[in-house]
Amino acid sequence: MFYKVFCKYNDYFSIFAAYNKKNMQQSNYIIEVQNVSKYFGEKVALDNINLNVKKGEFVTILGPSGCGKTTLLRLIAGFQTASEGVIRISGKEITQTPPHLRPVNTVFQKYALFPHLNVFDNIAFGLKLKKTPKQVIEKKVKAALKMVGMTDYEDRDVDSLSGGQQQRVAIARAIVNEPEVLLLDEPLAALDLKMRKDMQMELKEMHQKLGITFVYVTHDQEEALTLSDTIVVMSEGKIQQIGTPMDIYNEPTNSFVADFIGESNILNGTMIKDEVVSFAGHEFECVDKGFGENAPVDVVIRPEDIYIFDPSDAAQLTGTVSSCIFKGVHFEMLVQTKEGYELMVQDYHAFEAGREVGLLVKPFDIHVMKKERTCNTFEGKMVDDNHVEFLGCSFECLPQKGLQAGDKVEVQIDFNNVVLEDNEEDGRLTGEVKFILYKGNHYHLTVFTDWDEDIFVDTNDVWDDGDRVGITIAPEHIRLNKL
Ligand code: ATP
Repeated sequence: MFYKVFCKYNDYFSIFAAYNKKNMQQSNYIIEVQNVSKYFGEKVALDNINLNVKKGEFVTILGPSGCGKTTLLRLIAGFQTASEGVIRISGKEITQTPPHLRPVNTVFQKYALFPHLNVFDNIAFGLKLKKTPKQVIEKKVKAALKMVGMTDYEDRDVDSLSGGQQQRVAIARAIVNEPEVLLLDEPLAALDLKMRKDMQMELKEMHQKLGITFVYVTHDQEEALTLSDTIVVMSEGKIQQIGTPMDIYNEPTNSFVADFIGESNILNGTMIKDEVVSFAGHEFECVDKGFGENAPVDVVIRPEDIYIFDPSDAAQLTGTVSSCIFKGVHFEMLVQTKEGYELMVQDYHAFEAGREVGLLVKPFDIHVMKKERTCNTFEGKMVDDNHVEFLGCSFECLPQKGLQAGDKVEVQIDFNNVVLEDNEEDGRLTGEVKFILYKGNHYHLTVFTDWDEDIFVDTNDVWDDGDRVGITIAPEHIRLNKL
């Protein structure tokens, strides 16, 4: 293993690491991102981001494609500038500072090595530009090569190296400049699984050895959980949660985070009162308090937290196994409960498809989260007694006393009263299915309308991410309140 080599020497990088560790005591945060937004024309790529990174931390920005993680990294690197807000590094404002004047270096997914230069010259490139003395360059490049486990490769043509070796050279080229912060944009994405796992270990070792701050971007939740001190989960240009891997996994703040990190059962529930929640057709004891009485909530249960056994009096739920798959260490089973819910259960023992089972979940394994919204709410305007305009379209509605043409209204529609169809007619509201959450007995979809606003839909129909849809709402399902 290459990383073993790191542990053996005490040279330039150890001094560098000691210097950085000493610096750690001086200021609390090395990176401060305050109220930062980034717009590309009408598109909001980042929406009021606030993030503080401690010196020496390994922070991972995690989220699905298009959530804005690369844009955030590029703003810190200086390749793009923020539309609003302030970025500081080591207490100094650098929002408009060009990249080469920032104490950061970036490692990209595509290694961006110079094909006409050998390994040594690729790594030495930046130092030569800075007119660093030859002997110093020699010493620094050798130390950087040692750090990435490529000591004997300095004369090699970069084209003759494997993907993993090229990425090591790219990392060496970044750390040779002694940045205070190393920014890594999906650096392992192009490698095969085995190489990725090895490189993850090496990056973690390298981070400890160098003592500098790493900001890492990935869409791979397992990679984020493995590598990070802190994970920043993003979706649609916003930060959803910041926490340690354990916090993020065990206490997700909303159903997006719960769904994105690991496997989850996410169900609609009602908090009956403190420490009693109802879901899947039953009441359960839980440890949560302070939601009030009969409050609608999301309930998250990890599949490994559900006990599965032959039906007995201990069972809180009973059902039938519909599928059982061996996953290498555990079995993953889908259970259809008597009340019509589907739950995923993981266990070291197999319960084959068709078998009747009992299920049990302990109070502290039930995670209760406040619902972000309980119905769709829009601002609208009455067109006439029978029509209201919202989301850029005119919808038929039932006449309502006290409302007349021109009145501004709040429009409410329950999620299960929005109907999706795959034909897009002229004049009708249309959109694209963007996020699908399975809730045990139905799907909760986020549809991004062509009016640039989301509408939320509960349905039993199966749609795919990216499907184009027409959106219909029956007049009797449109509730109107005068504003
Ligand atoms: P991925 O993992 O696919 O790279 P990401 O989370 O890194 O996704 P970004 O690359 O930051 O996402 O993009 C965020 C949003 O901003 C996307 O909708 C993207 O299309 C848009 N965007 C990014 N760069 C530009 C640009 N230069 N011009 C216009 N839109 C852009």
